[in-house]
This record gives sequence, structure tokens and C-alpha cells, in this order.
Amino acid sequence: KTVGVALEDAARRWADRPALIVRHQNIRWTYRELNEAADRFAAGLSNLGLQPGDRVGIWSANRYEWVLTQFATAKAGLILVNVNPAYRISELEFALNKVGCKALILAPSFKSSDYLGMLRQLAPELATSAVGDLQAARLPTLRTVILTDDARVPGFMPFRSVETLGTDVERERLNELRSLLQPEDPINIQFTSGTTGLPKGATLSHHNIVNNGYFVASHMGFTHEDSLCIPVPLYHCFGMVMGVLGCVTHGAAMIFPAEAFEPGAVLEAVAAEKCTALYGVPTMFIAELDHPQFRDYDLSSLRTGVMAGAPCPVEVMKRVIADMNMRQVTIAYGMTETSPVSFQSRSDDSIERRVSTVGRIHPHLEVKIVDTEGRVVPRGERGELLTRGYSVMTGYWDDAEKTRQAVDEQGWMHTGDLAVIDAEGYCNIAGRVKDLIIRGGENISPREVEEFLYRHPQIQDVQVFGIPDQRYGEVVCAWIRLKGAEPCDADAIRLFCRDQIAHFKVPTHIRFVEQFPMTVTGKIQKFIMREQMIAELQ
Ligand code: ATP
Ligand code: MG
Repeated sequence: KTVGVALEDAARRWADRPALIVRHQNIRWTYRELNEAADRFAAGLSNLGLQPGDRVGIWSANRYEWVLTQFATAKAGLILVNVNPAYRISELEFALNKVGCKALILAPSFKSSDYLGMLRQLAPELATSAVGDLQAARLPTLRTVILTDDARVPGFMPFRSVETLGTDVERERLNELRSLLQPEDPINIQFTSGTTGLPKGATLSHHNIVNNGYFVASHMGFTHEDSLCIPVPLYHCFGMVMGVLGCVTHGAAMIFPAEAFEPGAVLEAVAAEKCTALYGVPTMFIAELDHPQFRDYDLSSLRTGVMAGAPCPVEVMKRVIADMNMRQVTIAYGMTETSPVSFQSRSDDSIERRVSTVGRIHPHLEVKIVDTEGRVVPRGERGELLTRGYSVMTGYWDDAEKTRQAVDEQGWMHTGDLAVIDAEGYCNIAGRVKDLIIRGGENISPREVEEFLYRHPQIQDVQVFGIPDQRYGEVVCAWIRLKGAEPCDADAIRLFCRDQIAHFKVPTHIRFVEQFPMTVTGKIQKFIMREQMIAELQ
């Protein structure tokens, strides 16, 4: 199926069921309304001269325009390019030019950032050019900028007027296009989170993402009676594939609590809309559980959800099940390059399995775990995780070299993550290959040290990583966020470790911090902590 056909099917089967609820914009659409709006917008885009295969960027936080654009571009055969709302001028320039965007959809402001202003700095020609005919020196392929605002700003096309542009000619053309679009066609370019360095643009097809969304939701036992709260960003596959396409393929309702993650808004949305499912990365669940008004919200409607994106501490998982009532919560493991999910627990897996593993391989995918020489390791041993199947991206956009490094000739995606799979197929992610700390010949998994430190009663959140050391090659560093105001020092932490974990795993450097450097997806960037520690210790 193509993404457009997936929505059309939903509109037929669940026409009057709620599809899209965007609380901060007061939008409540049924599947029929969403599909009709997407058709109108698709015809409008095609009237603007956009041709199948053209790239259209979207630079916006979570809003209804995002979801509408996702389906409209799919129906018009365009390739949607997700631009991270945390990007600033030079990153925007990089992303748009890297993939040659012809149009950009822009939400003017968000969290006091002036997106319109940033774009104008990059393309001052906007002020004098006609709508649809931009010629900007620094954005040579960009012709049209569409503003998600009703105000008429010179040089820009207002979002709402696009849907009025479509004529019978375009509608007829889109009708013909429906049968020409192939599930294997590229539909989306997504940049990876940038947790380990510069983001890479993964090219995904209809087939990749429709199927992945379907399987993610079916692992949670979704039906059209479910309603999913989506606080994760749409520009990432967690939001647009696991969230939006997961709902559309099952007729469930998608509920957006706010433009970007706010723990209070999430709790409010779950209680008010009686959501049955909730998504998040572990840091989001931690913030919700620790919200001062947590106990005031009735979360009894919750049943399931997905926690993914980063290793989840066992303690957090237990609280999510006990205190948030998410008895059937699942854990998923994936990456942008694999659309994204490849492992996921099922609602009916035992709690023990769900807190300690990321579940089993998804249907129609293959997996193997290899050592540094590429040989398959015996079951139960640790190595690099490789996956293969329908979900693997077509490649990094315009980067054959990086694609070759990631996906080998047999189609195996080299994930760069360390994993162990037990006799029954349950997988445990041990962290990134690159994050493994090697101290004086001892391999240390940062994850293991983190899990141990979480047991300290004053520790709220902890990140462990290695930094170069003259004597040992590498040593262990820990950055710690404390729970209350009560003081705690490095010696107390070391004392806590003594006789509990091997001496070489005890952090050599300990720092207490208020915050960790993070991507907008809420993922913690160890490489930045590492750089800071190295600079400090010099
Ligand atoms: P970049 O590739 O740009 O450095 P990134 O790898 O974080 O960033 P994503 O594609 O968003 O970008 O994230 C995929 C990675 O997230 C995986 O390779 C893995 O390291 C981590 N991850 C995802 N889910 C889990 C999970 N359930 N447990 C542990 N790690 C996870
Ligand atoms: Mg990655």
C-alpha cells in the first residue's frame, strides 16, 4: 500500500471515527475529514507546479499542518523532507540543499524562536520575489515557501490558500497518479537524530513506513477504539510512522497534546481525552512521573504504549506499569534507517521480559549478531546487531559512500548497536558499539553501570561514558542529576559502588549536572558530554 491509499482505506472503514485531535490548535477531525483535507491540499500542491519526486521540506513543531502535509505530499507523489525544529540557519541550509527542496512548509514561530526571521536571513530575496518564484543565492533549488499562518506575508504562500488552488485538472491528475505510484517509491527523507554526530538523511519508501507503522500498532493490540497520545516529535519516525501511520492503519485516534514535549500537557491530554496509549522516550516518562501534579490526573484509561529510542532503566519501566497504569506497555528498538522499528515486545509478554528486553524481531525481518570480524556469534553472546528485510531504507539521500558503510551487499543494515539475543529470541540492547568503554583491556558497558547507579536513592538520572586516558586507554565518567536538593558528592557515589561492582567500572570522574545535552527527540548526546569532559580535564 502507499501512504495515500492507507489513509483512503481508513476513511472508508472508519469514516466518522476521530482521526486527528490537536489540542493546542483546537482541531478535531474524523478520518473522512482528514482524507478530504489531504486531497484538497495535494491538489493545491500540484497546482503550485510540484511534480512527483520533488522534495518538499517541513520545518515545524507538532501541528495539524504537519499531519495534513504528510498525507498530501504522499498523495501527490512528492517526497517529504522532515526538518528538525531545533535546526538553526546553517543546519536548515544544509538540510534543504542536501536533498534539493523545491518547497518548504514553515511554521513561523515556536517556543520564542523566530523561524520566519531565520529563513529571511538565509534568503533575503524572499522580500522581493513573487510567490512561487524565489531565486535565493543560498537556497538555489527552493521556489516556494508556504506559511502555516493566515496572515499575508509578502513572498509567502499562506497554508490555507493552498487547498483552494486545486482545480479539476489537478484532481484528475492525482487520480491518474494513484495507480502509478509504487509502494517502493521514495516518500520521505528523515534525518537521524544526530546522537552520535551529524545527522544523515535516510530515504524511506511507502512500503517501508506503512508496514512498519502497522506492525508497531499491532504489537500493542490496537483497534479503532484506541486513542494514542503523541508527545514525540512528528519530524522523527517515532511520531510520523509509529504514531501517525500506526493509528491510520488501525483506525485509532491520534492526539497531540502540545507543539513540543511538556509533561503537564501530556498528563492533561491523557486524562481529558481518555487516551488508551502513550508514546515516549524514557526521559519523557521520567518527566511525567516526576511532575509535581502527577497524582492529580486520572490516567486510568491508559493501557499500552511504546517506550523507545534509548535504553530504558528497569526502575522507570516498573513505575510506568505501576503508577501510570500502562500494564501492556511495550518497548521498541529501532532506528531511522529501518523505518524505524525492528524489535518490539508484545502487550502479552511477561512484565519481566518487557522490563529487561526490547522483545523479539518484528514479522518479516531477519536478524543476526556478529563479532568484529563479521562472524555470527553463538546465541546468548554479545555482538553488533544486523537487521534485514522490508524495513531497511533505500539509502542515505545522495550519499552512496555512507549507504555502503551502513547497508552491505546482502542488504544487512549494520545498526552500530550491541545486542544479545536469548534462546527464545528476546533481545537485549547493550548500547552503541562506539560507546563501549575499554579500560585497561576490560570491556565495560555504560548501560550496566547506569543500571547499577539508578539504584542510588538520590540519583534521578545518570549517564555513563568513556573518555581517553593516558594510563588505561579509557576511563569511566558519570554525569548525574540528583533528585532533591539534598547534597551528594562524588565520594558518596564511589562508596555506594564499592564491593557492589568491579572496581574498574566505578566512575573515575563524576559530575553533578542540572541537565544533559540532548537532541530535540529527547536523546542524550554522550559525544557532547565526552567533548566537554575532555576539554575540562586538559
Ligand atoms: P545518529 O545516527 O544521527 O547518531 P541516532 O542513532 O540516535 O542518531 P535514531 O535513528 O533516531 O538516531 O536512533 C536510533 C538509535 O537509538 C539506535 O541505533 C539505538 O542506539 C537507539 N535506540 C533506539 N531504541 C532503543 C532502545 N529501545 N533501547 C536502546 N537503544 C535504543
Ligand atoms: Mg544512528
